[in-house]
Amino acid sequence: MTARPEGAHDGTKGLGLFLVPRTLDDGSVNGFYIRRLKDKLGTRTLASAEVDFVDAVAYQVGPLEDGFKNAVSLVLNTSRLLNAVACAGIMRRAYIEAAHYACHRDAFGHAIAKYPLVQEAIADLYSEAVAATASSFFIAHLLDKIETGQANENEEQLYRLLVNINKYITSIRGTEMVHRAIEVLGGNGAIESFSILPRLYRDLVVLESWEGTHNVLCVQVLRDMQRYHIHLPLFAFVDTKLAQIESEVLQDDVAVVYKASDRLKKTILNMEERDDSMYAQAHIRRIVDDMAHLAQATLLLIESEWELQQRMDTFKPIATTYFINRHLRPNYDPMQDEDYLTRLAQFVDLV
Ligand SMILES: Cc1cc2nc3c(=O)[nH]c(=O)nc-3n(C[C@H](O)[C@H](O)[C@H](O)COP(=O)(O)OP(=O)(O)OC[C@H]3O[C@@H](n4cnc5c(N)ncnc54)[C@H](O)[C@@H]3O)c2cc1C
Repeated sequence: MTARPEGAHDGTKGLGLFLVPRTLDDGSVNGFYIRRLKDKLGTRTLASAEVDFVDAVAYQVGPLEDGFKNAVSLVLNTSRLLNAVACAGIMRRAYIEAAHYACHRDAFGHAIAKYPLVQEAIADLYSEAVAATASSFFIAHLLDKIETGQANENEEQLYRLLVNINKYITSIRGTEMVHRAIEVLGGNGAIESFSILPRLYRDLVVLESWEGTHNVLCVQVLRDMQRYHIHLPLFAFVDTKLAQIESEVLQDDVAVVYKASDRLKKTILNMEERDDSMYAQAHIRRIVDDMAHLAQATLLLIESEWELQQRMDTFKPIATTYFINRHLRPNYDPMQDEDYLTRLAQFVDLV
């Protein structure tokens, strides 16, 4: 935890970082007292409390003046990744709950999985779950490289950018997708004793907020873009990886993502040229949405390419196309897409 020693600076500079053990060497409980537990909407199995520390033993972690910096880099960056992994896992669970229910629930004479509107919900759930998994595990891979001294400066910057963007997008999509799964379960979706979905829905509200709210993450990304041009390594990564994709079946999607990347570069350039802080803050969330979709689409294409090269019986390219159509293909209209119904039915066949 962070705490301000007596006489230290105001602001974050005066915060030291400390490890506070629960029990002391002689087995007695350290000096902390719980005023009250919080009555929370979500994460209720993990207690949150107001705590007073009185004569508590604490061990200083690193130099006092670096306390806040260390807390942010050691705790927040890791927690933001773990938060995203939790959201990806919850989306996967929501997909499994909804898809299985849809195959076994009959309404109006058929399993509801036969109805295109239900299939569309399952397709949304599956494609968002694989996108969140792709981005979160790529970030875990980058962190591995950083922690073992194998990352270059660009990869360190890419991590710094993506860990914030990914925390933002996975928690937003997580809430949307659990809600979508609840819809598939109809009335049962609202029953706490029927499935885990109501609990996951409540937990997601907390996952959206702690470790950085959406706006706070977005303004941090904006600051990093202005100070360090941290978006440039993302564009370099996207362009390099897209150029390496050879599979014929992926080329149409690759072209869409290239164009999305170009559009976003121009949007950011326009924002920089205006040099207006309030304008940039007002629009940064839209830019972060686009950056998140660009990164996730590129990572899904890389995974699709690898699975095709391994001659796996892979569904990833279909899920990738669905994701890219949803988020990046300009003016995409499912009503004009002759393959739409066939594609939807394939998501249910996966179950
Ligand atoms: C269950 C739970 C457990 C928690 N556990 C811990 C813990 O163990 N340790 C810990 O340190 N913290 C913990 N937190 C705190 C949590 O990280 C913060 O609540 C969260 O980061 C939001 O900060 P805040 O509550 O101060 O909101 P505020 O910063 O007051 O934000 C309120 C609103 O204003 C917006 N906002 C704020 N600044 C800006 C800006 N510059 N531009 C635009 N919008 C802005 C926010 O996005 C938000 O919508 C926990 C929170 C919860 C709910």
